[in-house]
Amino acid sequence: GMEKLTTDVAIIGAGPAGLFAVFECGMLKMSCVLIDALGETGGQCAALYPEKPIYDIPAHPGIEASELIARLEQQIAPFAPQRLLGRRVEKLHGSQGAFTLTTDAGDEIAAKAVIVAAGAGAFGPNRPPLEGLPAYEATGAVQYYVKRREALRGKRVVIAGGGDSAVDWALALNGIAESIHVIHRRPKFRAAPESAAQLDAAAARGEIDMVIPYQLHALHGAAGVLEAVEVADLDGATRLIGADVLLPFFGLAMELGPLADWAFQLERNHVVVNPARMETTVPGIFGVGDIVTYPGKLKLILQGFAEGAVAAHAIHPIVYPDVALHFEYSTSKGVPA
Ligand code: FAD
Repeated sequence: GMEKLTTDVAIIGAGPAGLFAVFECGMLKMSCVLIDALGETGGQCAALYPEKPIYDIPAHPGIEASELIARLEQQIAPFAPQRLLGRRVEKLHGSQGAFTLTTDAGDEIAAKAVIVAAGAGAFGPNRPPLEGLPAYEATGAVQYYVKRREALRGKRVVIAGGGDSAVDWALALNGIAESIHVIHRRPKFRAAPESAAQLDAAAARGEIDMVIPYQLHALHGAAGVLEAVEVADLDGATRLIGADVLLPFFGLAMELGPLADWAFQLERNHVVVNPARMETTVPGIFGVGDIVTYPGKLKLILQGFAEGAVAAHAIHPIVYPDVALHFEYSTSKGVPA
């Protein structure tokens, strides 16, 4: 139901950057509310590539994205942030020391400062223009993210697209799915050359069927149960491919969503911040992670983590105006039990 919460810092977005900001705020004794439009925390890591290993997290030579999120959750557990999941922040009013956020569910959060950690904003897949699509999406016969490879064991899988996701998933499902057809409009793939070469090799061994140059034309089945995918070549000649599951990988549509109307300055769909404080152009509203831009910004998780530390230190005087902040290491402070 509707909630009314009060906190020091409201964090919009529970991806890796928002989660670690809870830790940095917590170490400075500031309470947080975490709000995310998705039903679970982890942002892109949880929603888009939970089973992929990430290789550039410091001190983790390789860690699966879902494992990274599980460990972040463990790290912030001592600070027990309040959570509002499955709620999108629609409005942000007020000024430094007294902000009010409202969600699409009607929740109200009163906060002294705000951290925008909205990542790619309200992201969603680019959907193919096929008749009857929603019924197949509802049953999972058409999926845009593979959450668990095992769920596709023994299935006839059709993959559409020519980028990294299409190639990576064709390779990852090889040997798990009963059959794999890859549909692409062009012979050339926009994927890492090494992966594209692996795909060619798997196709040459007869493990993966390449359907090129074709594009999606229609879905055949009933009541959300897929039987075949119809594809058309550039002259309009069609062909039927037996299928249980279609995975269209046509990229992500990035939208700022409600953030676009808020008071801070944007630059090409990103929130402008001063990197010395991670503050937006509105005092008291800060930003971390993929959503922000400043000279030298890299859209990497490790940089999002560091930004959380910078933001938390800059927010401290807003929450504790009468307390001088002495820089301290975690090794001397420790964490709450
Ligand atoms: P996100 O993870 O995007 O999370 C933002 C969250 O904010 C989302 O959950 C969204 O629902 C929520 N949100 C947005 N607007 C609202 C709103 N109005 N109200 C409520 N919630 C809202 N990075 C690396 O460093 N190394 C890698 O190897 C790597 N590999 C990648 C592979 C793939 C396939 C992809 C897609 C990305 C990869 N990345 C990698 C990038 C990395 O995932 C991002 O840099 C990271 O997720 C950004 O974290 P974030 O917390 O800023 O945002």
